[in-house]
Amino acid sequence: MRVQVEPMPLDALVELVNGWGVEPRRAGARSDVPPLAPHVRRAGVARPVADSLTDDDLVRFADTVFGIFAADGTAARVAAVSELLSTIDVRPDVVLTDGVVRRMWWADRDDALLAAALLALRGQLADEDPGRLGICVDGGCADIYVDGSPAGRRRFCSVQCQNRARAAKYRRTRRDAS
Ligand SMILES: [Zn+2]
Repeated sequence: MRVQVEPMPLDALVELVNGWGVEPRRAGARSDVPPLAPHVRRAGVARPVADSLTDDDLVRFADTVFGIFAADGTAARVAAVSELLSTIDVRPDVVLTDGVVRRMWWADRDDALLAAALLALRGQLADEDPGRLGICVDGGCADIYVDGSPAGRRRFCSVQCQNRARAAKYRRTRRDAS
């Protein structure tokens, strides 16, 4: 069955990958996954599709998308998105909703979540700065992020990780000095 798909909001994409991805959970020592419903409802797929997703679906999805972020550099990330797009059937369409013309896509129901993510990442790579996809550099974290800061020099997933790394560096400096 074909369903409507829209590009996934990037913050929703980041939450899904960090919440269900094997590597972010391993690095962050999180054994549990978040509650499914509130997360998948923002994922850019139609409500019945979102409501039918299981934790296993989310883990598979998160690991696939994590692989794009783990790819080294823009060329490898573009290749990864391109390769994944070639495995699914996504058809662009245009619709008029409440007087507004919008872009929309159709995908197979089973591919809808991945299609929504790939559309978003394709947009980020092609229309925004392709260097802004990252994995937290903190040693005890492998959460992904999309850098939306003006300067575009973000290296941590969160302020917490940045502060932890800063404190560890400060302790190292003090120890070396004494
Ligand atoms: Zn982090």
